[in-house]
Amino acid sequence: MSRLTYVNGKYHEYKDSLVHIEDRGYQFADGVYEVFGIINKKIVDYEGHINRLFRSLKEIRISSPINKSSYYFHIKKLIKINRIVDGLVYLQITRGVAERDFKFPVKTKPSLVMIAKSISKKTYEDNFNKGIKIKTIKDLRWKRVDIKTINLLAPVLAKQEAAEHSCQEAWLIDEDGFITEGSSSTAWILKKNILYTTPLSNSILNGITRQTLIKGLNKKKLKLIEKKFNMKDIKDADEAFITSATQYVMPVIRVDNLKIGNGKIGKYANLFRKAYMEAVKLS
Ligand code: PMP
Repeated sequence: MSRLTYVNGKYHEYKDSLVHIEDRGYQFADGVYEVFGIINKKIVDYEGHINRLFRSLKEIRISSPINKSSYYFHIKKLIKINRIVDGLVYLQITRGVAERDFKFPVKTKPSLVMIAKSISKKTYEDNFNKGIKIKTIKDLRWKRVDIKTINLLAPVLAKQEAAEHSCQEAWLIDEDGFITEGSSSTAWILKKNILYTTPLSNSILNGITRQTLIKGLNKKKLKLIEKKFNMKDIKDADEAFITSATQYVMPVIRVDNLKIGNGKIGKYANLFRKAYMEAVKLS
């Protein structure tokens, strides 16, 4: 089946889904994005993602090319026409097409593209049951990673280095030796029945999966502390996790050459996944 995409107001075949070479996303990474998880044809935590998209747009002063309610319509339509059951919708907005100049163009309309992708439940289940491996890498990103911009060169290099070490994700380490977050996920460790994750600041993205897991943990009265952690804490950790819109809650079994727990997914993994899945809003 061919994939259909959304490009600036029209639906296209995947192979015909093109943007101009002077799109500012292409030339300057001048844009923002969102990833919406899809479970059983429904959008996961739509409100959280759309609100973060509008915040990102505001922070870099791009006005939305369509009104807020239209996003829902187009995402649902992409799910339907691509017959997605489980998977994701990727959405990107750039400042638009203009002759190359660093300053904002005056009359340019922002570009909006969306693409849907199927990811089988089985792929997620298999990864969950195996757990993933992490490589730590210096955090070389800019100072406003709270904005979900398409400026992703540092995470690209980090993820590549992780892959070259047979790891599925990189955890980024700040100047003081603390983990900020994953290259495309939120990082968590569990120590003595308490879960730890980095507090919100400009140095991490406010993960929507993070927010929902926290809600789920509160409901189940599981203990969470928002506090930075380093390699010493990881050494003492009983379990570790990442969360993101496409990986949901994913257990970590190794960080660099440190085995977490006994090197297999721990007893809290299912509990946290359940807490998360019970707290998500599907629409
Ligand atoms: N941090 C970074 C750097 C990310 O790229 C992502 C994934 N978009 C996350 C955290 C997790 O955010 P979310 O749960 O909203 O996908």
